[in-house]
Amino acid sequence: MGESFLGSETLCIVVPCYNEEESLGAFRDALEEVEGSLTEYLAKPIDFVFVDDGSGDRTLAILREFHRLSSRYHYVSFSRNFGKEAGLLAGLQQAEKLGSTCVAVMDVDLQDPPALLPKMFARMAETDCDVVATYRESREGEPPVRSWFAHRFYGLMNRISDVEMRDGARDFRLMRQRVVRAILSLPERERFSKGLFAWVGFDTEWIGYKNIEREHGETHWSFWSLVKYAMSGVIDFSKVPLEGISIAGLVVFLLSLVFLVFIVVRAAIFGDPVAGWPSLVCIVTLLCGLQLLGIGVIGLYLSRIYSEVKARPAYVAKEEA
Ligand code: UDP
Ligand code: MG
Repeated sequence: MGESFLGSETLCIVVPCYNEEESLGAFRDALEEVEGSLTEYLAKPIDFVFVDDGSGDRTLAILREFHRLSSRYHYVSFSRNFGKEAGLLAGLQQAEKLGSTCVAVMDVDLQDPPALLPKMFARMAETDCDVVATYRESREGEPPVRSWFAHRFYGLMNRISDVEMRDGARDFRLMRQRVVRAILSLPERERFSKGLFAWVGFDTEWIGYKNIEREHGETHWSFWSLVKYAMSGVIDFSKVPLEGISIAGLVVFLLSLVFLVFIVVRAAIFGDPVAGWPSLVCIVTLLCGLQLLGIGVIGLYLSRIYSEVKARPAYVAKEEA
């Protein structure tokens, strides 16, 4: 067991919120309930950092009220919706300012069961690890097509990127301060947190749990937004698409050389009757398609470079407390 773990830690919980007026109350109640079983690890009550990601409902009003009732409920409010990744970044930055020795990240919709927190702490104390991460063992209640694509995504990511991402990994995790510092030291603006968490490494323990459906409100992820999210994961953490397209180009070039020799030899032996219009069309469309694909792939990387070079901040905060 890590010395000085029991009773000496301070915990900050980072909670991204987007239009969550219905979930906030239940979340706070659930956390206050679980807090009692964490006292053996903690030197002081839990600090919370809620990030209002430009909500259009009463989320900010509720967060202000939380803060008014107790100053340990902190919040940052964005000037518009910047996405959950930006929310996580802002939350982790606040947690770092508070100097908490442990930071947990969790969703507000209670899909990340608060009852798991004591288990996560127990595991951290037991194994002296730096991170206790969670994953969903099942995807019950999710459309099968979505699960199928999710599994393919993790399979693909683990094959083509340097980082190891566990299938079903949630953002729900408990981290020591040094892990948070490592994550914050990564300067990129387009942040794919699942990848960043994996990239920084550290000793990680995994705890699985069954999928829990949202209590209130609806998921903010449409199928298409998940596809885009998956693509950004690939672009951020793998060069394989670029390499793949170069190899495809090379293969097509070599094939066309063979084809050229074939045509020349055939013309020399059998003369040159005008034929082969259909095959010509096929070849031209194939090559055009391949070129467009290549340009598209390069474009995706280029757009990443573009947004990193512009160096706009990941979010704009309009209010914090
Ligand atoms: N969220 C956010 N900004 C967004 C979308 C979502 O801060 O643009 C928050 C949301 O309030 C929730 C968490 O991210 O706390 C996860 O969102 P959601 O439940 O919609 O995702 P799912 O659990 O379906 O993956
Ligand atoms: Mg959710």
